[in-house]
Amino acid sequence: MNQYLSKQVADLKPSGIRKFFDLAAQMDDVISLGVGEPDFVTPWTFIEQSFHALEQGYTSYTENAGMIELREQISGYLQKHYALDYQPDDQVIVTVGASQAIDLALRTIVNPGDEVIVVEPSFVAYVPAISLAGGTPVTIQTKAEDAFKLKPEQIEEAITPNTKAIMLCNPNNPTGTFLTKDELEPLAAVIEKHDLIVLSDEIYAELTYDENYTSFPSIARMKERTILISGFSKAFAMTGWRLGYATGPAELISAMVKIHQYTMMCAPTMAQHAALEALKNGRQSLQDMVDSYKQRRNFIVSSLNEIGLDCPNPGGAFYAFPSIQATGLTSAEFAEELLQEEQVAVVPGDVFGANGEGYIRCSYATSLKQLDEAMERMKRFVTKRLEKAPV
Ligand code: PMP
Repeated sequence: MNQYLSKQVADLKPSGIRKFFDLAAQMDDVISLGVGEPDFVTPWTFIEQSFHALEQGYTSYTENAGMIELREQISGYLQKHYALDYQPDDQVIVTVGASQAIDLALRTIVNPGDEVIVVEPSFVAYVPAISLAGGTPVTIQTKAEDAFKLKPEQIEEAITPNTKAIMLCNPNNPTGTFLTKDELEPLAAVIEKHDLIVLSDEIYAELTYDENYTSFPSIARMKERTILISGFSKAFAMTGWRLGYATGPAELISAMVKIHQYTMMCAPTMAQHAALEALKNGRQSLQDMVDSYKQRRNFIVSSLNEIGLDCPNPGGAFYAFPSIQATGLTSAEFAEELLQEEQVAVVPGDVFGANGEGYIRCSYATSLKQLDEAMERMKRFVTKRLEKAPV
């Protein structure tokens, strides 16, 4: 090990997802259901606005917290769609992806030794981000029989005198689990009882297919204890632009801006112009993508169940999380053998937490044609295993 590496970084485990993509990248004819990003190209009008901004000479830094016009649009958007009231001047920060918002939020609230609860299966970045901020991640394992929905008593069990915060992700990556208002309210009651602060990652909020979405801070008395994190990557097909945002109590947001101004200065200017267009005029493009994801979700979920992989209907995001237990394989074996034999890349569930073992994550952010072919290949693979698997 290099002698100059900090202990904190040396202790970080590399993401379990990477290994598969390195392997898949070396193979031909791979269908990837692995990556967590839209297959759509960013709508042209957003790109055009970014070009225009560059043509007009907008090539400098913006305000540290982001262009005020963009913060006003974010504030208006949250008001219109989620009944949230945030002041653009001191309660909104524009960040380099939701990823940076997560990092800033954690560094803003965590003192050494503070415990931050993570609900697994979870997005792979939370645990390392907490450690890098000097905190201690404490994981809760949601249960498959509860459709991986967090229960209030599970929060109670995880609480210690050191618990400071909880990370929520709704809809969830990797399970696609979607929590309704009725399911969030009992969680809010426990959170209030124990005076926790919530980091609510709502980057998939627009990608919900069956029921109305409730933003966590819109629940009574939650706004003052929540940092809402979101971004443009998923809903507006803008992963490469690296643009996200956070909203919350003014004191916390200004503390986040303080770190941001020293470490990042501002989010990319041309991307901020594209995002402005997305919020002003992007509703139809968003709706078209949502309709398409819904069609793909319905297709992949029914196909997986037909193949013999039990898969509940995920309410949001663009992931299906079927059980592969009937095959008798571990998640890693399933993913590796499927890739080698049929050239279909999926992510083994255990990389998202211990309770992800026995599951795989299949992203359906790919065309129906590709999904159809992937399901044919997976059927061939699973049928062979089911013939062999002990009954
Ligand atoms: N949160 C979740 C739950 C995600 O799945 C992702 C991306 N995979 C992010 C945050 C980061 O998104 P961004 O591209 O905005 O940094």
